[in-house]
Amino acid sequence: MAIPVIEPTESPTWYTDAEKYWDTVPATINGMLGGLGQLARPDAVSSLRFLSEFVTPPTSSTASSIINPSNTKSESGSGSGSAAVSTKRQKLPLPGSGPSRVLDCGAGIGRVTKQVLIKAFDHVDLVENSALFVKQAKEEYLKSEIESGKVGEVRCSGLQNVMFEGTDWERRFDVIWCQWVLGHLTDDDLVAFFNRCKKGLKQGGMIFIKENNAKVGIVIDEEDSSMTRSDQVWKEIFAKSGLRLLRDDVQKGFPSGLFAVKMYALEPMP
Ligand code: SAH
Repeated sequence: MAIPVIEPTESPTWYTDAEKYWDTVPATINGMLGGLGQLARPDAVSSLRFLSEFVTPPTSSTASSIINPSNTKSESGSGSGSAAVSTKRQKLPLPGSGPSRVLDCGAGIGRVTKQVLIKAFDHVDLVENSALFVKQAKEEYLKSEIESGKVGEVRCSGLQNVMFEGTDWERRFDVIWCQWVLGHLTDDDLVAFFNRCKKGLKQGGMIFIKENNAKVGIVIDEEDSSMTRSDQVWKEIFAKSGLRLLRDDVQKGFPSGLFAVKMYALEPMP
């Protein structure tokens, strides 16, 4: 009789292995970026540009100058076939929907919050699994943003457990942003997470994803207990989760030899 093979993602230690890995990583920008701190700037510039097609930053924001409207074309030049959909969409925040709010998922110490999201939204909440990174965010890296009220809650939770419906986060966000974290969720947990996220979005809200892309299929990393999905696998998961892809784009300007990085702009299907 054949011995049953346990898929890595069905392993009972899938999430605890990832926790153990992140416990060894310094709570710094370099730590968040796998030792490649020099990626922070090109990453942030591309993210702000990608967001600018869908989000009008607060008037006080420096993002208005960072995002030059004449410069908001697709990074990949040709763009995605779905660009036409996005241009018909009204920009967030929708009139009358109050201050613009975003949730930074798998936020680490708050690098994306500080370098991207705070520039494009009035208010940011964060959710992050590592208690050490949450502590660092609250006590140091985001201290002044918390004091000024731009950053609200920094919640310590795994995304596989985070709830929106029936909590303070129900219908709260214009945008839910997930970057370099979703590889830690199994497919089933990811689909369930996306479905719960829909309850966290205001009417007309969107989900943005920025993640590594494998060339084909999935690549498992046993060191940090994560998987890298291909563009095709991502799109299958979006469809399965009832999310419509409005635009995707490739990150430019990263050193060769790394996984490709793609940004996806999604909205719940009606
Ligand atoms: N998004 C941040 C941090 C990336 S590092 C940035 O781009 O700078 C990946 C982060 O995901 C780490 O902080 C890690 O603790 C967190 N993480 C790993 N598994 C998680 C899970 N299941 N739920 C929430 N966060 C998780």
